[in-house]
Amino acid sequence: MRRYGKNPDEDDIRVRPNPKGNRPRTSIRPKHEDAAEGMVLTVDRGRLHVLIDDRTIIAMKARELGRKSAVVGDRVAVVGDLTGAKDTLARIVRVEKRDSVLRRTADDDDPYERVVVANADQLAIVTALADPEPRPRLIDRCLVAAYDAGLEPLLVLTKSDLSPADTLLETYAPLGISYVVTNRDDFLTGGVDQIRERLKGRMTAFVGHSGVGKTTLVNALVERQRATGGVNAVTGRGRHTTTSALALPLPGDDGWVIDTPGVRSFGLHHIDPSRVIHSFPDLEPGAEGCPRACSHNEPDCALDAWVADGHAEPARLFSLRRLLATRERKEGD
Ligand code: ZN
Repeated sequence: MRRYGKNPDEDDIRVRPNPKGNRPRTSIRPKHEDAAEGMVLTVDRGRLHVLIDDRTIIAMKARELGRKSAVVGDRVAVVGDLTGAKDTLARIVRVEKRDSVLRRTADDDDPYERVVVANADQLAIVTALADPEPRPRLIDRCLVAAYDAGLEPLLVLTKSDLSPADTLLETYAPLGISYVVTNRDDFLTGGVDQIRERLKGRMTAFVGHSGVGKTTLVNALVERQRATGGVNAVTGRGRHTTTSALALPLPGDDGWVIDTPGVRSFGLHHIDPSRVIHSFPDLEPGAEGCPRACSHNEPDCALDAWVADGHAEPARLFSLRRLLATRERKEGD
């Protein structure tokens, strides 16, 4: 069951949130009825790489889209030269309604939220168990962003040969998050089947800061595409060097992996506690007794009584409060 805390079709320009479904849809433009449908794979220097059927074309936003953005994962309608031939440039005339939007701000004080990825349904948070040390605060912040966007989180723990996963998994056990634990041999031998299993039929965005092995992992996951030149066909280059996310098909067309640029921070300016608590169905009813705009970490918060009455586990409330508190803390704390 998907839940979205916020109209996912909103753009990355900061606007007053509209009540879900109340945003008027732009009328269909009959002149673009014959537009081809595609998916944005990456954005490179303002040019969007769009997959249409089995070829990649380069496109730019049509003027009529105004400030509306098209981001990786977006389903778009494209007109113009669709051959994909060198030096051709098609136009994106419509961005279809988004199922989900993963956002971040550069930092917590930044009022401008950026759409990182559209239409993902899973967020893989890649964390090394050592070298570099795990950063639980960053994991928490990624989780908050996932819950806010209605994405199911997946913890991918790497380098288990250097340090065991037990302590970290204990921390996240109350949240009931799916996880996979891998070691460096898994990467080297391509033994990433247990992760691939979790990605089947889904669109999974991968986040993680540098050094955790995210890109190595993504490369291993899409190995067969690379071997057949698929990645080159997608980006037009051997190596992806832009700051944009990059969507890559999994072998057998059984889902998508979206590699995002390494994150050092995950600004949460845009997060609303009432949206995050949607992902805690055992606690959410208890919040009905909370004061208006409750932070869920204040004396009058009704969740304490809710837990004391046995409606939910104390560890769940503790975890929710820890997640919500990440908005008030710097990541290094
Ligand atoms: Zn409360």
